[in-house]
Amino acid sequence: MKVPSLESLPLQNAKVLVRVDFNVPLDPQGGVLDDTRIVAALPTIRYLLSQGCRVILMSHLGRPKGAATPEFSLKPVSAALSHLLNVPVKMAPDCIGPKVEAIVSEMQPGAIVLLENLRFHPAEEKPEKDPTFARQLARLADFYVDDAFGAAHRAHASVVEVPKWMKRNVAAGLLLNKEINFLGQALHSPLHPFMALIGGAKVSSKIGVLRTLLEKIDILAIGGGMAFTFLKALGHEVGGSLIELDQIAEALAIMDLCKKKEVTLLLPVDVVAAKEVTDEAEAHIYKVQEGIPQDEKGLDIGPKTILLFNQAMKQAQTILWNGPMGVFERKPFSRGTFAIAEAFAKTGAVTIAGGGETVAALQSTPWKDQVTHLSTGGGATLEFLEFGTLPGIEALYTGST
Ligand code: AMP
Repeated sequence: MKVPSLESLPLQNAKVLVRVDFNVPLDPQGGVLDDTRIVAALPTIRYLLSQGCRVILMSHLGRPKGAATPEFSLKPVSAALSHLLNVPVKMAPDCIGPKVEAIVSEMQPGAIVLLENLRFHPAEEKPEKDPTFARQLARLADFYVDDAFGAAHRAHASVVEVPKWMKRNVAAGLLLNKEINFLGQALHSPLHPFMALIGGAKVSSKIGVLRTLLEKIDILAIGGGMAFTFLKALGHEVGGSLIELDQIAEALAIMDLCKKKEVTLLLPVDVVAAKEVTDEAEAHIYKVQEGIPQDEKGLDIGPKTILLFNQAMKQAQTILWNGPMGVFERKPFSRGTFAIAEAFAKTGAVTIAGGGETVAALQSTPWKDQVTHLSTGGGATLEFLEFGTLPGIEALYTGST
């Protein structure tokens, strides 16, 4: 079943409530530090403006824990959005209530209003606390569009409850649609050989997605902190590296599954280790076979592993990457992630990257535009890859039938 698209709705001059993901990092002065998420929502907003719509935007920002907190106001975002679009964006004092309704009722075609942080109300994260919250949001508009892929894995009021009140007038925005298409293609019709490159801190957060991917991929390369649980499970000496003892059995099960499914498993053959995680740390390279000294921890993949993973990427036609190869935030341990980023972007294969840190690392490189798809989700990307759908997507199916 296809998710309802923007183009399927009669939106001329309509009032449209759009769930966007404007959860951007702010600097201490309240300026927007990184506008990637705002930029990602522009195609949908521009499309709606081209239809003469009155555009009512809603988002969360940070974790204000259900109370109006000035430091989590979306006001800086309204200024950044207005600057990007070169049109005025009116900031509402709240997301529901008579004042907001009055502002919305005065909107002219082509006007934009940004509602204040949804999470100032406890019912956004816990809809059962106040079922009228979603209803009040819904009655602001005639149509509902979800373009917040990064929040689509959360069963929050603005994601799953509001569409229930919209009398089938719901659709996925252009960004959400793009994510579903690219990630869905990787899941359902990838070009083979299909390689997954998985890193990051913890095995436990990626076990589900690993198990789903093993049904589809041909090559699995594991780097980052999570590789050490696998190396430990194989009996290697990993010193003080990050390991999850309670995931050793899972790691063994994954390795067993790789054999059964004939998936080539690549683990680090050498690592960069140090006593401390600082920019000044003295880093050493160890062969995995020889082990890491007790007083050091593995913090990046080594040069031979980079070569090994790069060789495998050259054979692949589709590559999915989630999770950095090391503590790339610190100079001595950043080489693995950036070397892999360069090879990944330049392979010529269909390349899909997801996860906040992975995408941030790629975006800081000159090769970012060569990646086929940089997913805007963190948890949402992983959950979509694991389950093939998300609560926010399901809500659009239900809301449209
Ligand atoms: P995740 O959110 O699970 O993808 O984890 C991302 C984080 O994993 C990054 O902030 C990295 O610093 C961290 N990371 C990557 N490799 C290692 C490692 N070898 N030891 C500890 N942390 C790591």
